[in-house]
Amino acid sequence: MEEKSDKTKKIYGKIKKKYTQKSVKKRIEALFLDNIGKVITREQIIKAATDLKTQKQPENWHQRLSELRTDDGYTILSWRNRGWLRVEEYLMPSSEKRSIAGKRVRPDKDTWQCVLQRANYSCEWAEGNEICGLKEGAVDPVGGGRVKLTPDHKNPHSINPDADTKDAQQWQALCGRHQVIKKNYWDTNTGKMNVYAIIQSSTSSEKEIIFKFLLDYFGYVQDKAGNIHKLEIGKQ
Ligand SMILES: [Zn+2]
Repeated sequence: MEEKSDKTKKIYGKIKKKYTQKSVKKRIEALFLDNIGKVITREQIIKAATDLKTQKQPENWHQRLSELRTDDGYTILSWRNRGWLRVEEYLMPSSEKRSIAGKRVRPDKDTWQCVLQRANYSCEWAEGNEICGLKEGAVDPVGGGRVKLTPDHKNPHSINPDADTKDAQQWQALCGRHQVIKKNYWDTNTGKMNVYAIIQSSTSSEKEIIFKFLLDYFGYVQDKAGNIHKLEIGKQ
């Protein structure tokens, strides 16, 4: 398998210089670009992302990392998509960026104020009847860090995105965690769960359950040595 050949080359990256870029995201980007194909750890990311002047450690580095994937189009692998990476190890296989579809639309200032007032300055993410409701500036009990609400375009593929910048109905306020969930796990083209992304982000034991389910589903069996055989139905 391809992954195995990656694994034999598992080399850890290094912080080669001081990262003086203005934003946390830019400093993390520079660290990865300096270490293409090498494993970067959580500690290295935090160190590189720390503001050299204030020495303030960024609590939101995880979100910035996610933005490098979703907004900038970089591929950054983690234990979620490569079994041989440990938890909190990351790897950028190349500096290539996927082309990001279209430019991002944002609500104008007044519209965003309208959205925030409607939302009562809290996250509007709804799952069934439950609304997230985390307030701007509160501590996120699940993801950690302070909540910063940002606008989410409910239908980014709407016919007239430019008109939407003035229509509060087209927007919702989301906390960082739910922005990530929406971007990663929700296919805005189809309005369906992004099953592939969900499986990628599941734990190894969850993947094993899914793997066994798929073997059953497609009529395969796995023997004790781990080899997979197609069940030959109707044959003796
Ligand atoms: Zn939320």
